[in-house]
Amino acid sequence: MNLRPQKFDDIIGQDDVVERLRISVFGCKNPVASMPHVLIDGPPGLGKTTIASAIASELGVNMYTVNAANVRNIKGILPYLMTMTLNSVLFIDEIHRLPKIVEEFLYPVMEDFKMGLVIEGDPESIDIPHFTMVGATTSGGSLSQPFYDRFTIKEHLSFYTSNVLAKLARSNCDSMNIDISDEDLLNIAHRSKGTPRILNARLQWYKSYTSFYPEEKSLEKIFGMQGIDKNGFDENDKKYLDILQKNRGNPLGLKAMSSLTGIAMETIENSIEPYMIRKGYVRRTQRGRVLGKGNGV
Ligand code: ADP
Repeated sequence: MNLRPQKFDDIIGQDDVVERLRISVFGCKNPVASMPHVLIDGPPGLGKTTIASAIASELGVNMYTVNAANVRNIKGILPYLMTMTLNSVLFIDEIHRLPKIVEEFLYPVMEDFKMGLVIEGDPESIDIPHFTMVGATTSGGSLSQPFYDRFTIKEHLSFYTSNVLAKLARSNCDSMNIDISDEDLLNIAHRSKGTPRILNARLQWYKSYTSFYPEEKSLEKIFGMQGIDKNGFDENDKKYLDILQKNRGNPLGLKAMSSLTGIAMETIENSIEPYMIRKGYVRRTQRGRVLGKGNGV
């Protein structure tokens, strides 16, 4: 089942971002021109890929997708650049993972649509059609400044409120054939850490659980079985908060957090902390992480 909205009108939330992109897309259709390069930054699961594909679909062009983690060198990006057609979209996910040499190779590509290659020992400049690069990153700050500057449009996605997530959930319940009250839906939204991808996973679990146990309606019980509490925190989140609690007054660095919790540093930085920080559970100070005032567990 495809829960990914195809058009701007189907995207729920991120209203300001969508509105700005809608205006930019309109500008590129009248008269037709390629859209300036776009960088979308934000924690995982908030809709970066969804918005990128909506841009392509609104422009009425093809979107080609590559994950930067799979691009080790210039050769790795060439086949994608050679495939570009006029005004099409190249979506580069996790763009902060591109090796520096590829970033540098992309500067003239992004600016002048020229690839500088050495062919049989001779440097050549090859023209490619004007296209739009859409980069997605969970870590906007780690792009080098010249690369970052080449994205004319920069958008940041923020966590969704529970009310917006509940609205999104209602529309997904219709496609997933889930029969549920508004109150329970809001409750599930509260357990989704402001993130549509997590919300969809919660709904999927709710659907499976209630078809297995048709009489069971207690959300405590349904999500308790997965170790998810009323704030939406799972075992990893709880382990993370627990370590901070035990080390009150002793700020912890990322490495220390990772070895004490057994959770990968990248997971801590990209998946656990952004929401905790946003909600005030955790503060990142110069000396390390400390518990914040929002800590309600
Ligand atoms: P990201 O690329 O930021 O990791 P995705 O775009 O892959 O996130 O979104 C994760 C899931 O959440 C997708 O299945 C998508 O359908 C859903 N989703 C994300 N944002 C929205 C939104 N604003 N409205 C509806 N569904 C959304």
